Amino acid sequence: MPNDSTRLGPRSAELRRRAAARTPGGVHSNVRLTGAQEFIERAKGAWLYSVDGRDYVDYLLGQGPNFLGHAPDHVVDAVSDACRRGVIFGGQHELEVQASELVCRAVGWADMIRFGVSGTEVVQGALRLARAATGRTKVIRFEGHYHGWLDNVLTAARDGHWGVATKGQVARHLDDFIVLPWNDAEQVADALDRHGEQVAAVIMEPVMINAGVIEPLPGYLEAVRRLCDRHGVVLIFDEVISGFRLGLGGGAERYGVPPDLATYGKAIAGGFPVAALVGRAELMSRFGTGEVNHSGTFNGSVMATAAVAATVTSLLEDPPYERVAKHGRTLMVGLRDLGIEHGLPLRVEGLPAAFHVSFGDAEVRDYRTLQRLDLARYERLSRVLVEHGLWVTGRGVWYVSACHGEEELDAALTRFEKALRDGAG
Ligand code: PLP
Repeated sequence: MPNDSTRLGPRSAELRRRAAARTPGGVHSNVRLTGAQEFIERAKGAWLYSVDGRDYVDYLLGQGPNFLGHAPDHVVDAVSDACRRGVIFGGQHELEVQASELVCRAVGWADMIRFGVSGTEVVQGALRLARAATGRTKVIRFEGHYHGWLDNVLTAARDGHWGVATKGQVARHLDDFIVLPWNDAEQVADALDRHGEQVAAVIMEPVMINAGVIEPLPGYLEAVRRLCDRHGVVLIFDEVISGFRLGLGGGAERYGVPPDLATYGKAIAGGFPVAALVGRAELMSRFGTGEVNHSGTFNGSVMATAAVAATVTSLLEDPPYERVAKHGRTLMVGLRDLGIEHGLPLRVEGLPAAFHVSFGDAEVRDYRTLQRLDLARYERLSRVLVEHGLWVTGRGVWYVSACHGEEELDAALTRFEKALRDGAG
């Protein structure tokens, strides 16, 4: 059920009533059923403005895509200029070539790229390609990692067993997946010793941002890379969140471990809906021979490729990563200090560009240990934070953009403190 706790302004309340009449739950993605329900009128930089005249410092950033801040002028201008000359051609165009070259250059290790529209679908492309290349069907994946909402990748834990996450999901579509705890290379070695002949791919977020923003332990990614090589298994990094956010080369660059295939989305296009599958030529070229199908009416559209070209060009020319890290680090320290001042066991961990806020002091290294934290307590706090003008969700992940500066830092800490003073937490 939608989150009712936010005290909605009158215009939001009215729009929400109308939305609920025509749209199940009043939202177009179930992820938003539990988020803030205020209606947004406009957004710029690091700020959101509601239809009721409230403003919010945004640390959700559209679930990650607004890494350059909301509506970056150069990206919006590039898209609008390009689209005046046509939106979709059913044929090739120069922007596709430019965007492809720019992404491969930025990523560093990848030879080729195919664009898609959502992270969910490019993950499917990666899995199909790995299966085609290896002639195997099984895939190793990890507890707590998210790879989209389709039947074969959506999964949830019940009583320690990973199975279907929703009514209507066909359980047998998960049969080919071996779900392991993450950050434990021995588990991967053991699974590959037992099933290696059948395993096409290992897929993971190189940093588990979707559950706790947990970094890989030193040596873990390297060990999985070696195991994949030994068993002829394709290593897929799902960089839909981490790509272009942690650095131009995402998690692969940060940890110095190149995968064979990687999926991108979110931060790649300045907020526009674009995703990409990148990889080594010997794998990716199978799409080009027609041996492996990958299709999509809107793939490589003018809007998408103009947005990617403008976004990646600016990231290459003026990388904001140090700025983002500085803001993130200072904010993390500031939030921790506020927790201490108010005698709360507030926990702020992760990376400066994406960090996780919760309650508790357990040592966390994977999904199971993450459950030792009081995640429900933070979820309650998040609702009060929204009421105090901080746009965050109950999942605890805060995203920082290139537009977050001193003003936003002051506003965020002041608003957070006010929420704590008002008894939240
Ligand atoms: N992979 C990861 C790591 C994600 O975080 C997400 C979405 O949050 C997806 C895939 C799916 O992307 P989309 O929501 O664009 O389908």
